[in-house]
Amino acid sequence: MGAMTLVKPNLHRVDVDTRQMLFHIPSSSIFELDDLGRELLALFDAHEQVAPEQLAGLAARYSQQDVMEVLDELRSLEVISDGSTVARINPAPQQVNKFPLTTVVLNVNTGCNLSCTYCYKEDLTTPSKGEKMALDTAIQSVEMLLRESPDQPNYNVVFFGGEPLSNMPLIREVVDYCEKRFAQLDATVDFTMTTNATLLTEELVDWFNAHRFGLTISMDGPKAMHDKNRITVGGQGTYDVVRRKVEMLLKRYTARPVGCRVTLTRGITDVERIYDHLSGELGFFEVGFGPVTSGDIAEFNLTGEELIEVFAGMKRLGQRYLEAALRNENFGYGNMHQLITDMYEGNKKLVPCGAGLGLLAVDKDGGLNLCHRFTGSDMELFGDVTHGIDKPRLAEFVEKRLDRSDTGCETCRIRNLCSGGCYHESYAKYGDPTHPSYHYCDLMRDWVDFGVEVYARIMLENPGFFEAHVSPRRSA
Ligand code: SF4
Ligand code: SF4
Repeated sequence: MGAMTLVKPNLHRVDVDTRQMLFHIPSSSIFELDDLGRELLALFDAHEQVAPEQLAGLAARYSQQDVMEVLDELRSLEVISDGSTVARINPAPQQVNKFPLTTVVLNVNTGCNLSCTYCYKEDLTTPSKGEKMALDTAIQSVEMLLRESPDQPNYNVVFFGGEPLSNMPLIREVVDYCEKRFAQLDATVDFTMTTNATLLTEELVDWFNAHRFGLTISMDGPKAMHDKNRITVGGQGTYDVVRRKVEMLLKRYTARPVGCRVTLTRGITDVERIYDHLSGELGFFEVGFGPVTSGDIAEFNLTGEELIEVFAGMKRLGQRYLEAALRNENFGYGNMHQLITDMYEGNKKLVPCGAGLGLLAVDKDGGLNLCHRFTGSDMELFGDVTHGIDKPRLAEFVEKRLDRSDTGCETCRIRNLCSGGCYHESYAKYGDPTHPSYHYCDLMRDWVDFGVEVYARIMLENPGFFEAHVSPRRSA
């Protein structure tokens, strides 16, 4: 055995009171370091290179066999390297030739009955000018999904807009078609929708119940915050009507838990207050926050100071998530729950999300886009529902993003959780979706460090939480 070095980009240590956790970056896994592991790593902290003779100091407290075993383990994790092999930091750039598509997002109407000030949709228009997807296009989308990705056990059809409720005739026909079509194939199909809720009726809620829709409501908090941006075409706040509809929905809807999605824009940063209103007062099962940092309309982007405030609030909410987890209770906070789920499952994300691989969004004319945020944008399409996926183009795109060489992400400690960030944010910020979105890396790293600490505390103090509240929701 020759001199050994620490492979710094592969580990991150987090202290939890008197204990020390090792976040193993290549596998997004977390281990507790025992005394020997800590001492060994401290030796590497103190010396650029550690020669075998330098381990002699440990002999007074540990057997040579124990030292060798821990060293072997750290070597197999590629946390230390002895020069005999080159430790991997990122997988070698790879060729993409499979697109395991399981989800299509249908942009059923470019029109929306609201006129939210910050809306990013480039093709968005008022209801009267809205262009609706034709049934034939929707059916071709489903058939394209089956052609591109046959023999999957589960598929997802997502209805998006504009406001999807403004094209219910199409949605009803698509659901009817899918239920029959997927049943013939012995596959399941799951329907989801994000809606502003204003057009919900009791009859619709019952219909969604019957088809077990996964529903997410866009709502931005208490009246003053919600009405700041979520307004009608005529400029009126929509809080009162949305609240009424949400109360009806949450009372009536039994098929699945209902979530809420909050958009944080300039001047709207009090995440705890928003959470308490939406979860505590209104009763949403889960609330998730989307901070706007790179929208087309610069005046809605959170300022640097506001972003710091938002992350501080998200951490305070995360603390409440932790306290609930230690009591073995679920705290419906989507951002934290997703992070904890990624760590529990050891997710190593080579790309930030399923867009372009497991998921494609279809615009009203049948064009294929990376995800719902790109429909109607100037970004070139990746094929269409008639001719299928333009595989060479899509492969080139994904391969470019998979290759982290010469980017800041190459050695970043959260590279396998952030993976360069959302394509659409990069597109909005840099005009190039393959460019990593670097604009709040430090805050993201701090947020993930916090998540590691929350995860570690749950792991040490109430490991049963994962089985009780993380696994079941994954399989649901
Ligand atoms: S975008 Fe920033 S935070 Fe994300 S992986 Fe790259 S360097 Fe890290
Ligand atoms: S590209 Fe961005 S907006 Fe689109 S699915 Fe991925 S994370 Fe979401």
